[in-house]
Amino acid sequence: MAGRRLLILGGTGEAAALARALAEAGEWEVTTSLAGRTRAPAALPGVVRVGGFGGIDGLAAYLQAERIDRVVDATHPFAATISANAAAACGQLGLPLLRIERLAWMPVPGDRWIDVADAVEAADWLAGALPAGAAVLLTLGRQDLAPFQRCPELRFVLRSIEAPAAQDLPPDCLLLSERGPFTLDGERALIARHGIRAVVAKNAGGDATAAKLAAAREAAIPVVMIRRPAPPAMSDATGAVADIAGALDWLSRPR
Ligand code: NAP
Repeated sequence: MAGRRLLILGGTGEAAALARALAEAGEWEVTTSLAGRTRAPAALPGVVRVGGFGGIDGLAAYLQAERIDRVVDATHPFAATISANAAAACGQLGLPLLRIERLAWMPVPGDRWIDVADAVEAADWLAGALPAGAAVLLTLGRQDLAPFQRCPELRFVLRSIEAPAAQDLPPDCLLLSERGPFTLDGERALIARHGIRAVVAKNAGGDATAAKLAAAREAAIPVVMIRRPAPPAMSDATGAVADIAGALDWLSRPR
């Protein structure tokens, strides 16, 4: 099979699991690329590079300089810029690109989801729907927090891998620096302990952070669900799969 040098665009559990699965098989020289948002990322086998490439041109130059044969975009469903850049750079170079796209979460009976486009709409909904002093669980990264500063009447519990800077936080905010996966028992306890009245989440999909949805259903509280950005346009050399098994299958096929 031609092509042994693989770039994984990472920052997710799937990216790490794929790098580990490929290290065991030993057939690909794997480089995982991280944006550098997390100060202490989980250890990964293979080469790890950290930091942006410098847009589409920078990524294309990197792919050529490193003689990369294939790219797997295993970034988070909300990381729209890097995915669009990968599609454009691989398209320019004619490089095979696969996107791992977790299935989005879907509401089930008993769920009360408020569908919103972004954090601004989420904050507006909370401000209009909840009484002063109500507690809200935010399961978002630091780049999404600014809109909640316009809800000074609400109490926030923010769960985030990295502690954001103090000036990014809403005025009344308890910070929980935790990394998933999270259990249903743990999420139930969290909702009860803090008297949570609503949960704000991005529709990330996957199992690692889904327990909060079941816990919210049980507690009969709303989930303000930020919908996904549109995925990048596909070219002929681009495919998409839902999970690592699909990616391993794609990598096992000749190109
Ligand atoms: P983004 O908006 O799509 O990307 C912004 C810029 O960050 C890109 O243009 C690129 O810079 C750089 N970048 C992003 N991912 C990169 C990667 N894997 N390797 C090298 N450079 C990368 O991304 P984001 O939403 O800020 O997310 C950043 C990272 O965090 C992603 O890797 C993603 O998988 C992970 N993550 C994101 C979320 C989320 O909710 N957005 C949640 C969990 C994990 P250049 O243009 O300079 O190349």
